[in-house]
Amino acid sequence: MGLPIYLDHAATTPVEGRVAALMSECLTAAGGHGNPSSEHLYGRAARARVEQARAQAAALIGCRPADLVWTSGATESNNLAILGGVRGAAGARRGHVVTARSEHKSVLDACGALEREGFRISYLLPDPQGLIDAEAVRAALREDTLLVSIMHANNETGVLQDIAAIAAVCHERDVCLHVDAAQSVGKVPVDVAALGADLLGFTAHKLYGPKGIGALYVSGARRATLQPLLHGGGQERGLRAGTLPVHQIAGFGLACELAGAMLPSEGRRLSELGERLWRGLADLDGTLLNGHRTRRVPGVLNVSFAGVEGESLLAGLTELAVSSGSACNSDTDEPSYVLRALGRDAQLAQSSLRFSLGRSTQVQDIDIAVSAVRREVHRLRAAAP
Ligand SMILES: *Cc1c(COP(=O)(O)O)cnc(C)c1O
Repeated sequence: MGLPIYLDHAATTPVEGRVAALMSECLTAAGGHGNPSSEHLYGRAARARVEQARAQAAALIGCRPADLVWTSGATESNNLAILGGVRGAAGARRGHVVTARSEHKSVLDACGALEREGFRISYLLPDPQGLIDAEAVRAALREDTLLVSIMHANNETGVLQDIAAIAAVCHERDVCLHVDAAQSVGKVPVDVAALGADLLGFTAHKLYGPKGIGALYVSGARRATLQPLLHGGGQERGLRAGTLPVHQIAGFGLACELAGAMLPSEGRRLSELGERLWRGLADLDGTLLNGHRTRRVPGVLNVSFAGVEGESLLAGLTELAVSSGSACNSDTDEPSYVLRALGRDAQLAQSSLRFSLGRSTQVQDIDIAVSAVRREVHRLRAAAP
């Protein structure tokens, strides 16, 4: 048997060939290996690469290039937005932050760090469909709320939040809204103005670019109060010190341009493939879709199979590379806290698989996945006492 079929694109995507070629070129003397902070020819060439990429990344989310700060990925973007945004706005005071139980660990753990510094955090519970009601955000706001952090698309379920509605509530009270958009940028149209986000982070390796590079959009109005996490050479207008990794940035920029160009057709194609996968599984007894049926990123499907242990299911599915819950938590045996937040009991949360389709996924892959999952579910149920 050959390599397993890769249905784990929400964990990471393979680097697109053209992106890898550009990155290699940037590592050569002729291709921009200089330090973009240097004034000689090599430095200027590197700087041109960086600024071209900034324009490409900005175009994908509808912002001005000057409003993007390079980071090492969405984890850093989330930390910079939450720690830097809240500490900068609070000054010597303390205050309050609103987020949700179903956020990515990098958001929850950054909020935990703020809690240890004396800030108060409200953790909203999503509804059983995985949605955060804008009215629940409104009810959680306090006089001293400094930041609301709600993700656009969830990494485990693919559920898309109504960010524009949440932004309207935040802006009535002049509260800063941070959006973790790592799972939505490049997969669904994202426009920072239409969403109303003040801070919005994303990352290259979820859109066919390299690992270790991301960006944070910072609206003009919030720039003055954002406090940097890294201090040093003053790069990125003082918001993120450190020599810019030109090859990573150039690869990210091109990946953004390609993702934007492919988005309409890939979105349609992945929606159809996702539907085909769900139709193939839905009639199995005890099969439940986790998260809202339609408000989701195309091609991400999280399914619970009642009475079947997710890990045993994975072990039998040798022809597939899929994930049980979130890759970030797979080294623990804990059931997914995201599915628990949707009200799934521990057993159902532990009986789930996340399928995330991508550019390489073909119709025949879906058909193989459907028959493999059906076979394993039947086999495990037959073997159960
Ligand atoms: C992958 C992911 C992150 C972390 O991104 P890195 O670039 O790996 O640091 C954060 N949030 C969400 C929703 C993600 O899917």
